[in-house]
Amino acid sequence: MAASEKIKKGFFITGTDTGIGKTVVTFALGVLFQQKGCDIGVIKPIQCGGSDAEFLKKSLAIKDSLKEINPFYAPEPLSPHLAFKRQKKEIHIKKILEGYQKLQSKHEIVLVEGAGGLLVPIKEDYLVADLARDLDLEIIIVSRLGLGTINHTLLTINQAKNLGLKIGGIVFSVNHPRKMGVPERTNPKTIERLSGIPVLGTVPYLKNLNRKEIIRQCLSKVNVNKILSSLRAPQGRSNPYKDCFVAPKGLLAMTENMNLGAKRWGDLDKQYLWHPFTQMQDWLKEEPLVIDRAEGRYLIDTHGRRYLDGISSLWVNIHGHNKKEINEAIIRQLNRVEHSTLLGLSNVPAIELAQELIEIAPKGLAKVFYSDSGSTSVEVALKMAYQYWQNIGKTKKRHIVHFEHSYHGDTLGGVSVGGIELFHKVYRDLIFKAVKVNSPYAFPVPKGMTQSAYAFSRLRKFEETIEKHHDTIAAVIVEPLVQAAAGMLVWPLGILKRIARVCKQYDCFLIADEVATGFGRTGKMFACEHENVTPDFLCLAKGLTGGYLPLAATLTTQRVFNGFLFPYKDQKTFFHGHTYTGNPLACAAALANLEVFKKEKTLYNLQPKIRQLTVELKRFRRSPHVGDVRQKGFMVGIELVRRKNPYQPYAWEEKVGIKVCQEVRRHGVTLRPLGNVIVLMPPLAISNSELKKMLDITYRAIKQVTKNI
Ligand code: PLP
Repeated sequence: MAASEKIKKGFFITGTDTGIGKTVVTFALGVLFQQKGCDIGVIKPIQCGGSDAEFLKKSLAIKDSLKEINPFYAPEPLSPHLAFKRQKKEIHIKKILEGYQKLQSKHEIVLVEGAGGLLVPIKEDYLVADLARDLDLEIIIVSRLGLGTINHTLLTINQAKNLGLKIGGIVFSVNHPRKMGVPERTNPKTIERLSGIPVLGTVPYLKNLNRKEIIRQCLSKVNVNKILSSLRAPQGRSNPYKDCFVAPKGLLAMTENMNLGAKRWGDLDKQYLWHPFTQMQDWLKEEPLVIDRAEGRYLIDTHGRRYLDGISSLWVNIHGHNKKEINEAIIRQLNRVEHSTLLGLSNVPAIELAQELIEIAPKGLAKVFYSDSGSTSVEVALKMAYQYWQNIGKTKKRHIVHFEHSYHGDTLGGVSVGGIELFHKVYRDLIFKAVKVNSPYAFPVPKGMTQSAYAFSRLRKFEETIEKHHDTIAAVIVEPLVQAAAGMLVWPLGILKRIARVCKQYDCFLIADEVATGFGRTGKMFACEHENVTPDFLCLAKGLTGGYLPLAATLTTQRVFNGFLFPYKDQKTFFHGHTYTGNPLACAAALANLEVFKKEKTLYNLQPKIRQLTVELKRFRRSPHVGDVRQKGFMVGIELVRRKNPYQPYAWEEKVGIKVCQEVRRHGVTLRPLGNVIVLMPPLAISNSELKKMLDITYRAIKQVTKNI
């Protein structure tokens, strides 16, 4: 091959079963590629028993060390997840990916031989198919010839398509010397016709497993030219073998329709939907990621591709998707009553949930008022706080104090107490006037000062405001401990307590907006618990239903409740309520969510994962373009900066956060940034290895993107 035609490519060799002849096919392909003048590398990353890797190294005369060819070996012929567990050894996916990259940089074509078939677990939660996808390689499916092979092969193809893997073709392998019967002779054509996947050839039974024999027997039977021509095909062609397709029928029609369907959803989305917090001009240029279903911590798109849900579907999911207990609770409730109003009536799940919430909330909260979203839970608190003082005759107490960088939702009340210029400034003429004070958080901290000392010094403005104006202040609203939407700005311990003390001293209500921090995100059920604070209002939403249904609750005290108990004629009722307030389905989901918290000891099991996160985040801090890493429990913000010293942020238009999230998506993780801050907020039920996978992918994506900006 001429130097200009040199190619860089890898193939992932998988099989319809174990013992099907993957190694023989890898060997045969290796020899045939070498015959064509290609420089070959092989990697059998995981081997359980046998000596396939040694065989490939020796017979293909490969110079790379055996450790490079086979980094993970366990002696027992078992599924890798078990074989390695029994050896008390761990398989490190990152090491495999890096090992592959290294070989790829040395060779033109690298053949990666998988273990067993696509759905074989490498680890408890990581399959061979995941590795093929993480390596981003086209797969070659090795199948046997004979009765039953149509079923095995089509199932493997279908699964590979469902998982979004690219299939290069099928190679059959004959591992017995018997005469070829009708099935053997007709299998390739039948499978090719039904699946639309090209058959690249058959490796016949080889008496002697050596180069000579392969060249003699396979050169005419395996179409290496077809593979090589695909390697040189222009980029972007989804299937280099398109020309081989026979008219769609059966499975082909089904899978083609599936792909067509996936594309159609994207087109219809662009035609009809307007997405929140999204510049639609950019959106219309991209292929939208359309979610079709979900399992555990994974979202699955209409192509069947799986994505680790790295932000818990916008900070709501707790125990994973499709959680049996919550599904069943909703279905049970559905068979009783789907909705009845709380205006003038009550319902059982709403009552039960209110009782449960009061039991788990900080002591002193006594009443629950339902609504539908985080924003509405804040509206309720603001209006209740305001009206309370009006009702009892302290009519001067009308103002709300809020903090710089605060975010309390998008309804106009929430926007009035919002402190993020980018989101809020345009609505200036529509909102009520609130009193804004410094956020205790500031970045970077002045030289010679600790974060904590600086935070307390910045709290002075708040204290002075309350001291001077408390008789006109109805309430102070805070996001306890973490100002989330502003980029996960973490307040040092002690700040919330100090705010609560000042509020109490001057009789101003404290509204704790725990929409983001509630339900375990900070490591405790509610962030207020970290400082033993009981607010006058506690706003809850997001994780309340475990991420299932829109439901919010505003909890308050008996004192506030009593401030609304007047004769009917006085018209001091709380005139507020939404149509779906206290929806029974949503309340049933929330009850099941709280039940799972108890049953699975979610908060207890979360603690080691929080520690793992802290340890893993250390390497991010060392990264040249990471200015700050903020973590409170399972809430993480990684701030990307052009330069650390002197501090220079990336410009908004550079979209560095968006680019990193696009890159992680390519590797099977969904994230959503807040400007230049990469947010990590996985479901509390994420496993240790998934957490690691998410961090590894994010780390690499940050490195990759910041290198090019
Ligand atoms: N309050 C806080 C602290 C939030 O983080 C959010 C949303 O992120 C809201 C309120 C608004 O919640 P929703 O989007 O459910 O209206």
